[in-house]
Amino acid sequence: MTEEQLLKMAKEAKSNKERLAIPVQDMPSQDPKVRIHNMNEVAKGYTKQQAFIEANRCLQCVNHPCIKGCPVSIDIPAFIKKISEDDIEGASNVISQNSLLPSICGRVCPQESQCQKYCTVGLVKKDVGQAVSIGRLERYVADTMAAKGKDSIPEVAADTGKKVAVVGSGPSGMAAAADLRKAGHKVVMFEALHKGGGVLVYGIPEFRLPKSIVQKELSKLNKMGVDIQTNFLVGRTESIKQLMEDDGFDAVFVGSGAGLPKFMNIPGENLVGVLSANEFLTRSNLMKAYDKAHSRTPMLDIKKVAVFGGGNVAMDSARTALRLGAEKVTIIYRRSDKELPARREEVEHAKQEGVEFMLLHNPVAILGDEHEKVNGVKVITCELGEPDASGRRRPVPIEGSEQVLDYDTVIVAIGNNSNPLIKLTTPEIETNKRGNFIVNEETCETSLPGVYAGGDIVLGAATVILAMGQGRKAAVAINKYLDGKSK
Ligand code: FAD
Ligand code: SF4
Ligand code: SF4
Repeated sequence: MTEEQLLKMAKEAKSNKERLAIPVQDMPSQDPKVRIHNMNEVAKGYTKQQAFIEANRCLQCVNHPCIKGCPVSIDIPAFIKKISEDDIEGASNVISQNSLLPSICGRVCPQESQCQKYCTVGLVKKDVGQAVSIGRLERYVADTMAAKGKDSIPEVAADTGKKVAVVGSGPSGMAAAADLRKAGHKVVMFEALHKGGGVLVYGIPEFRLPKSIVQKELSKLNKMGVDIQTNFLVGRTESIKQLMEDDGFDAVFVGSGAGLPKFMNIPGENLVGVLSANEFLTRSNLMKAYDKAHSRTPMLDIKKVAVFGGGNVAMDSARTALRLGAEKVTIIYRRSDKELPARREEVEHAKQEGVEFMLLHNPVAILGDEHEKVNGVKVITCELGEPDASGRRRPVPIEGSEQVLDYDTVIVAIGNNSNPLIKLTTPEIETNKRGNFIVNEETCETSLPGVYAGGDIVLGAATVILAMGQGRKAAVAINKYLDGKSK
């Protein structure tokens, strides 16, 4: 069908039947053969026409089940209706009532397991891939506003005389800082790395989330008056107690994330050529190791790369490895395609780009040569047994099915734990057995009065939107706490 026909169909659609007949609009994207040689964003975003057509697929359900799938409860049908009326500013106003980072969440939210999972259109068609493309439409609104220079700086209330420290500059810290500053408090954000943005900058690659977008959000905070101090490791440069007792901070929000990589504890993990996904992605994204001509910290040449894991981090690592010049990249994952925890779109993109998937296999050892350099991976075949505590079927190794495969690099992407530094230096903050901070669910307050926490440090490795939501929830509670606190 031509675009003209689709536009006509969208304009004339009145009944649910007519709306259900409009096909889902694919996102234009770079050709896989071209994009594996550059770091530019893969998905290019909807055109105005595509956004209009897609918006008209929404049935405007009275009970709007999609909203319950959004962790920050954006009024989805309302913003989509505004798009269908070509009122993009109106759509943006609806979204910004609940979300501070639509250009980011529209790109990286796992929509198929959140808002789009509950969309009536997907349910009627028995395929979540056919649901209304809520995330793409959200991105369209945010990008259109940015292109028009209309993503304005929020107003800041009169100075309250109170000071709040925000530890970490990822999405939870950014959201908390924005809401606290809006309320008129002095806000200082402390970031251990030399650049702000957390995982949005050092973890998620440029080809999925352009860093200029994150930079824009950080400079908005700057313009609002948030003081961002980089190269400041809370727990080493100063402890939380020092910030409160010596520097006069009235409250602290900790959004320090989950940046401690997990390993498999198999033989060979200390060989040269084994990297955690965190190290690999940080070197590429933050230290620009892919820019071999200019980077001051280039990486060793990689040719045959095995990536352990099946989540977003594994997909990002595999696709980055291709762009760094690897000839063969294999995802080794112990369950089947159905259980891959990564966003579906990332799996599809990785496949299009030539990443191999070795499913139902688990690495049991990494092998090395006489120079202690990786030269192989031993894997065992698995089959799926009964569901485990996570509800997914447990992978069961098949005895005697081991084989050795030829690789020179291994990237371990099986998850992260929280960094223990703040806990070690502030033992008054209670944590669970995984090291995550225990907080009051309503307020995000920790066991240390005046100290709040949110994002991955509380939830374990989770999502951008959940982290942002917790940052905002904590800011509401901190504002209340500071209201009742005399200076
Ligand atoms: P982070 O983003 O981790 O930020 C924490 C910040 O705190 C960091 O900058 C860190 O340097 C700083 N810090 C830590 N300790 C200290 C200290 N002691 N002092 C000062 N600063 C400190 N989620 C999605 O929704 N969609 C995706 O597609 C997706 N892809 C991902 C891909 C990768 C490679 C990774 C690693 C994660 C991905 N996630 C994704 C998860 C998502 O990025 C995180 O859930 C989210 O960033 C958590 O936000 P946060 O604010 O809690 O922490
Ligand atoms: Fe969906 Fe994420 Fe947007 Fe919520 S923030 S509507 S979950 S894309
Ligand atoms: Fe629109 Fe789907 Fe939400 Fe219904 S469930 S209002 S069709 S986005």
